[in-house]
Amino acid sequence: MALLEVENLSLALALSGMLKPVVDNISFSVDAGDTLGIVGESGCGKSLTALAIMGLIADSPIRITGGAIRFEGRDLASISEAERRALMGDRMAMIFQEPMTSLNPVYRIGDQITESLGQHRKLSKKAARARAADLLRQVRIPDPEGRLDAYPHQLSGGMRQRVMIAMALACDPALLIADEPTTALDVTVQAQILDLLADLQEETGMAVMLISHDLGVIAENCKDVAVMYRGRIVEAASAADLFAAPRHPYTVGLLNSIPDPDADKDDLEAIPGRVPTIDEVIPGCAFHPRCAFAQDICRDVRPGDAIASKEHTALCHFPTGGAE
Ligand code: SF4
Repeated sequence: MALLEVENLSLALALSGMLKPVVDNISFSVDAGDTLGIVGESGCGKSLTALAIMGLIADSPIRITGGAIRFEGRDLASISEAERRALMGDRMAMIFQEPMTSLNPVYRIGDQITESLGQHRKLSKKAARARAADLLRQVRIPDPEGRLDAYPHQLSGGMRQRVMIAMALACDPALLIADEPTTALDVTVQAQILDLLADLQEETGMAVMLISHDLGVIAENCKDVAVMYRGRIVEAASAADLFAAPRHPYTVGLLNSIPDPDADKDDLEAIPGRVPTIDEVIPGCAFHPRCAFAQDICRDVRPGDAIASKEHTALCHFPTGGAE
């Protein structure tokens, strides 16, 4: 049994009495200890999927319109709000792109970590503080005891992200969802945080769902990859297969836009155009206005889910990427 199973999940935005689809019939799973990368440009539905898994859409206009999310075999739609709260932050945790969205600027770091511990673990104040210092040590923050009394604004962006990771790890989650955890950081710190996540995963055995717009980040850190475009998973494979032989033109475009320091060219090959908004109706393949391989069928017929092989799926009429 997979740790996390997302089966035929569809999400929609409830606006003015209408439901506008934002995630369309996606399925994937994450096994214990594994790393799944979800990649795509902004607006493809990655973060909404993560928020739905974490149960963080209840007070938003996002609705689950189909499918199921199962964690450790339990259907998350059928659990009570109290059970959901007990699960989140304990067995499942999430870190975000900008730590200041999760850290409260007016509370000391130590108080914020011990509060999270207090919600899920019955620890004395002294034991919770000791555990908080241990967590800061685990995420390689120097002088952890001293940092417990710091406020978030006294730390650098990289340190704040380490604190967020410490808070997420407070209750030894089985699954950590990391939503663009390094996007707000400079390149050197990005690499440090990704290395830290990999080390922590090895130490703790937790599974990681890593969300990024950057296929380079995914390439180096994930066992399996799902590529999302406009609410659908358009390609899914092991990272090794996907990078060796990408089958969807969108994936090829993302790969071509990864900076290569050894390449003898000044400009990156950006994918032309942009992700359509939810109000734009695109018949056929949603990628066709941006695809160099689009043919008539692409403009009329939406690629189905059963075109590619089970191991390496690609929702494309020409999945090897090449119409002659
Ligand atoms: Fe391009 Fe056609 Fe494939 Fe869509 S279905 S990605 S337009 S080749």
